[in-house]
Amino acid sequence: MSLLQPITVLGAGVSGLSAAVRLIEAGHPVHILSKEPPERSTSAVAAAIWFPYEAEPVEKANRWSAESFHEFVKLAALPDTGVRLMDFLVLTRPGLDNSWKDGLPAGAVRKAHPEQLPPGYEMGYLARVPLAETQIYLPYLLERFRQQGGTIKIQEVKAVEPLLEKGHTVVNCTGLGSRELFGDESVYPIRGQVVKVKKEAPVQSMVDSMEKGRLGYIIERSDCIVLGGTDYDHDYNRAPAEKDTRTILERCRQMEQRLGQPLVLQALAGLRPKRPAIRCEREDGRNVIHNYGHGGAGFTVSWGCADEVLRLV
Ligand SMILES: Cc1cc2nc3c(=O)[nH]c(=O)nc-3n(C[C@H](O)[C@H](O)[C@H](O)COP(=O)(O)OP(=O)(O)OC[C@H]3O[C@@H](n4cnc5c(N)ncnc54)[C@H](O)[C@@H]3O)c2cc1C
Repeated sequence: MSLLQPITVLGAGVSGLSAAVRLIEAGHPVHILSKEPPERSTSAVAAAIWFPYEAEPVEKANRWSAESFHEFVKLAALPDTGVRLMDFLVLTRPGLDNSWKDGLPAGAVRKAHPEQLPPGYEMGYLARVPLAETQIYLPYLLERFRQQGGTIKIQEVKAVEPLLEKGHTVVNCTGLGSRELFGDESVYPIRGQVVKVKKEAPVQSMVDSMEKGRLGYIIERSDCIVLGGTDYDHDYNRAPAEKDTRTILERCRQMEQRLGQPLVLQALAGLRPKRPAIRCEREDGRNVIHNYGHGGAGFTVSWGCADEVLRLV
């Protein structure tokens, strides 16, 4: 029997699963309570490329992202994790903050040559970064957690206090759910849609996140190509919209002409849990550790934040 304190992790998206894995592998007995299973979380909708987008404060997000990068590189070397490294073109322009690249290992990123840029773009970085294929990676995390004796129950938590009895610790990874459960009105959704299309020809994976309202990205997965995106603040609609599918297809075709007229396999929408600052801290006066509000970078910062949670415990 473990002598370390029992922990209840709330939430089974990427933040909850990564924290739960870290804690249980450090020897804590861990139980997850989650309103919905991993495959129904925002995390399951994500393109899940390593790239700190809509995550604040930038300095901390960059540190957590760099720490996660190293962990993902290790996972990419193992079979069946759903993680691999890929070449990713980050379109940008002079004067924009590109500090995301500063914490990366030497050789992981270089300036793109003009002929590597889509028409109309003046600058870009080609980075070799991790991609987590969510349909494999989330089950992998859950299985890794279970193999250590971790347990999970699908149940909505309405009150935290009863979970804190007998010196138990609660780690809150409920993302947008923290609005209701912890009364945090500073966390809000940035609704994002992705369109999965059939893979016909090789494409360059890339992102243009320079302007609000004009987000575009192309991510080549093993089974399809994921196209995005939208960035609607305070929009709670989890249903994909036909109009957004059309906008995404048009925007991505402009960025990568090799896409042609791809066959649409599926459209999905998810609510990025945005907060002015990611909350990864111990609550004053209670045995609660928060880990939520990761915006558009929940995968990117996941291991850095999970390590922070472990330190806080
Ligand atoms: C279209 C789109 C594309 C994205 N692309 C990327 C990307 O390329 N790279 C990247 O890093 N990030 C990306 N993101 C962002 C990423 O998906 C999020 O930052 C991440 O999923 C947040 O994970 P989370 O575990 O904190 O929250 P969630 O995945 O939302 O999980 C929250 C969990 O808490 C549970 N919960 C909520 N309330 C309660 C309650 N009261 N009781 C019990 N359980 C509760 C939920 O059921 C769920 O399991 C993208 C997001 C979207 C929408």
